[in-house]
Amino acid sequence: MSSRRKFITDCGVLASGAGFSYLTIGQNNWSEFNKRSGKSSGLTLRYKAYQLHLKHVFTLASGSRSTTPVMLTELEFENIIGYGEASMPPYLGENHETAGSFLSKVDLTQFESPFLMEDILTYVDQLVPGNYAAKASVDIALHDLVGKIMKQPWYKIWGLNPDRTPNTSFTIGIDKPEVVKTKVREAAPYKILKVKLGQGNDKEMIEAVRSETDKPICVDINQGWTDRIMALEMSHWLKDQGVVFIEQPMSKASVDDIAWLTQNSPLPIIADEAIQTIIDFRNVQGAYSGINVKLMKCGGLRAAYIMIKMARALGMKVMIGCMTETSCAVSAAAQLSPLADWADLDGNLLIDNDVFEGVTISDGKIILPDRPGIGISQRGKR
Ligand code: MG
Repeated sequence: MSSRRKFITDCGVLASGAGFSYLTIGQNNWSEFNKRSGKSSGLTLRYKAYQLHLKHVFTLASGSRSTTPVMLTELEFENIIGYGEASMPPYLGENHETAGSFLSKVDLTQFESPFLMEDILTYVDQLVPGNYAAKASVDIALHDLVGKIMKQPWYKIWGLNPDRTPNTSFTIGIDKPEVVKTKVREAAPYKILKVKLGQGNDKEMIEAVRSETDKPICVDINQGWTDRIMALEMSHWLKDQGVVFIEQPMSKASVDDIAWLTQNSPLPIIADEAIQTIIDFRNVQGAYSGINVKLMKCGGLRAAYIMIKMARALGMKVMIGCMTETSCAVSAAAQLSPLADWADLDGNLLIDNDVFEGVTISDGKIILPDRPGIGISQRGKR
């Protein structure tokens, strides 16, 4: 039996045991969440596989793709529903099968209150190793649920000033100069561009962008450079081109070369692939200027909040990023964005089948919605 087929069968077994719950989101014709963990008076977790469609084929140093698998979750307590999401780009190693397998093991019936967040999320974290995106889908749903019960958005619960949200960057993938120029024109509403580099046409890419705009750029190499001398020369050239920082220039394994580059580069060097979760600080401390925090890498809002505080304690810069995601996970991450120096929260803008609405962008700046929890509602419902 194929793994995909087995996954569907597993869901069917679980669903037939627990009964289906139905959810209609906007105009989309889906539907059945697989019900799990179900005392009717306790915490009930449901999840459903979904496929995001990207507006443009997305190319970075490691390859191209036009879809991203996600798992959408619901956590219900006393008729209040919190929403969550796991986004699983291939490089993270998770997929519908692994997330379904993980979530089928999550039994929240032992917890009497969603306010036991520390106990609940420690249990989820320790259930099995890895599975950070799947864990994030529970963490986000729990935060949404608790915020809704408290009738407050999380930025307020954390005491954050919504006026301090940064501008979000808009991502331009690796492409031919004419396509890059078109994408730059489409990105007119954004104040900062994130340009993907690392496939050998870096200067051509930047020159194409600069032929259209002089707005600030950050660049993400996705480990694509291999030589530290070349990386240093490029960092000087990029500074002259108005670039503000360089993300993951070389392999995360090249710690010594990256530490040398960080010491000598005129631009901050930000870790992305090199830091997934809290334990990875030991790999980046002293080697990078800052970190890119993503909910899908670290397991959700609880871990992301701790990572931001740790980075600050170590004198590091903070960027908050995302994968291609619906407005669910993007709006969750945006709740933390007043704590970040830079934000790259455009994942929901890159897809054409979002099922939620939440955070919006006005004149390039992140606007946190005045809604409780993570600030989202289903498309077509308010
Ligand atoms: Mg990156």
